[in-house]
Amino acid sequence: MKTVNAYAAPSATEPLIPTTIERRDVGPRDVLIEIAYAGICHSDIHTVRGEWGPVAYPLVVGHEIVGVVTDVGSEVTLHAVGDRVGVGCMVNSCRECANCLAGAEQYCLKGNIGTYAATDLDGIITQGGYSTHVVVVEDFVVKVPEAIPYEAAAPILCAGVTTYSPLVHWKVGPGSRVAVVGLGGLGHMAVKIAHAMGAHVTVLSQTLSKADDGRRFGAEAYFATSDPETFSTLASSFDLIVNTVSAPIDLDAYLSLLALDGTMVNVGAPPEALPVHIFTLFGNRRSFAGSGIGSIAETQAVLDFCAEHGIAPEVEVIDASQINEAYERVLASDVRYRFVIDSSTLS
Ligand SMILES: [Zn+2]
Ligand SMILES: [Zn+2]
Repeated sequence: MKTVNAYAAPSATEPLIPTTIERRDVGPRDVLIEIAYAGICHSDIHTVRGEWGPVAYPLVVGHEIVGVVTDVGSEVTLHAVGDRVGVGCMVNSCRECANCLAGAEQYCLKGNIGTYAATDLDGIITQGGYSTHVVVVEDFVVKVPEAIPYEAAAPILCAGVTTYSPLVHWKVGPGSRVAVVGLGGLGHMAVKIAHAMGAHVTVLSQTLSKADDGRRFGAEAYFATSDPETFSTLASSFDLIVNTVSAPIDLDAYLSLLALDGTMVNVGAPPEALPVHIFTLFGNRRSFAGSGIGSIAETQAVLDFCAEHGIAPEVEVIDASQINEAYERVLASDVRYRFVIDSSTLS
């Protein structure tokens, strides 16, 4: 075991505090990573506060991890000491169910093993990336291309792949008419990636306050959803709507914006059930879908895609001592567009 520095939540209601945690010994197929940066995802906040169900404390969250390999097990072939690598939302899966065998381990039928607050195959509860080091089995570690700025790479591991996966699944390409609902951590990556795929991108945001940013990220159009005219102007005009908002919205209003055979896919997760009129789906043969994170192969693919197209998340780098303040700013939507912890400040 190796004792390493970390920032942990002692309970659902207390601020995160500096502490130490144990990382397992490097097994034959494990990689030891010295973490350089870890992104702050909204999911981290929901999880530490127990809003997505009970968790064991103390808990270290963080599933947007980049760093360098400092040790490898005897049977490791995919990574070498010195490689720049990343870890996203999962660190393991059963490897034998139909979905795992199909390369969709994020949909493992026994539940993928999350990077934090999950029970790994060895029975130990996983602890995330707000830490100086992590040990992960080699095939759940991806390569981070040098072309991506180091501090900006971390959010690709969750926000990037979570938006990339549905854009690929619904075959977005040149000529696709894509709307992105919400311009936050997920939304800004959805805009950049869809634009780089050749789509015509529209942002639907509550107000026009981030319109300049949206255009800079590649959106051709930007509409305020607080203006009811937006919904009549844009009726039946999109092939794909990517909803990144976790707050409840009027689904019928958004679904009515889909063109023939259009799909609205949700990557944000409101906690409550939302009503839909089936007649809205009859019109234009619309589909309503969800998509959860992405596979390991897609995580590598989105990193390579970002490197190739010269795109990266917009980040604000913070010290570990600023994590609690950053949480409050995330909850107030006061972040442009992702906080990233400089892990050297944990030492
Ligand atoms: Zn996340
Ligand atoms: Zn499985």
